Amino acid sequence: MFDYHVHTSFSADSATPMAAQVEAAIAAGLREIAFTEHEDYNPGDETSFFFRHADYHAEVDRCQAQYGDRIRILRGIEVSEPHRTAPLCGPVLAGYPWDFVLGSLHWVDGQYNAYLKDYYLRFGDWRESMRKYFRELSDLARGGDFDVMSHLDYPVRYGVQVFGDAYDIADFEREIRPALRILADRGKGMEINTNPLWRHKAHPNPPGIAVRWFREEGGEVLTVGSDSHRPATTGACIDQAIVLARAAGFTRLATFNKRKVTFVDLPPNPKPAA
Ligand SMILES: [Zn+2]
Ligand SMILES: [Zn+2]
Repeated sequence: MFDYHVHTSFSADSATPMAAQVEAAIAAGLREIAFTEHEDYNPGDETSFFFRHADYHAEVDRCQAQYGDRIRILRGIEVSEPHRTAPLCGPVLAGYPWDFVLGSLHWVDGQYNAYLKDYYLRFGDWRESMRKYFRELSDLARGGDFDVMSHLDYPVRYGVQVFGDAYDIADFEREIRPALRILADRGKGMEINTNPLWRHKAHPNPPGIAVRWFREEGGEVLTVGSDSHRPATTGACIDQAIVLARAAGFTRLATFNKRKVTFVDLPPNPKPAA
């Protein structure tokens, strides 16, 4: 099992020491864990300019020395809006030996925080807020330096305050498929982000139908991640993501080393309880 989206206290929105996350990952039976800390430059974001890269790499060294015989620890980073922030994130990506880079859209149009309820009221119809988000994913997919695009329908986590259960990702297929095609053509990936599942929602980010769209557009590179910020949720619901990946037509998962992809066969679906 793999968890390719985990935060520690190197992200402003997590208080968890890296070693505690490693121990949680080992206890959860994970083979590999990627610490993907927030790299954000938007002055309005709590995570901006927080990530201390050299200290992080020293801490990964320390954890690899202590736990490396039990789990593989990857050097990751979650870059916000890599298609807009290349002058800032370029030197960071070039300056350290990253294994894995997530590309995320958190701020739409460089100015609207999709984390805030206000974003879903701003354009008169929440569907327009969602369309803007999904359209910008094509810009990110085309122009960003990253390996895997994070949490495809991330706004659902917050827009639900406005639209309740009226959201259906199938209504946005026209906006989403072009981004998935670009990812596939560039050899980039998408992830199944289990954060909503461990919050007891029905679907991960994104639902299985969009994972299938990615496969249909030629996508090969698929990772799974919990987006955990605390030990209790590290590795959570990864088994459900594996089942969903298989149902969407994938037979392999992507793993990374120094930003090079290698594929491994999907683990078997868990046996139903007797
Ligand atoms: Zn994110
Ligand atoms: Zn994250």
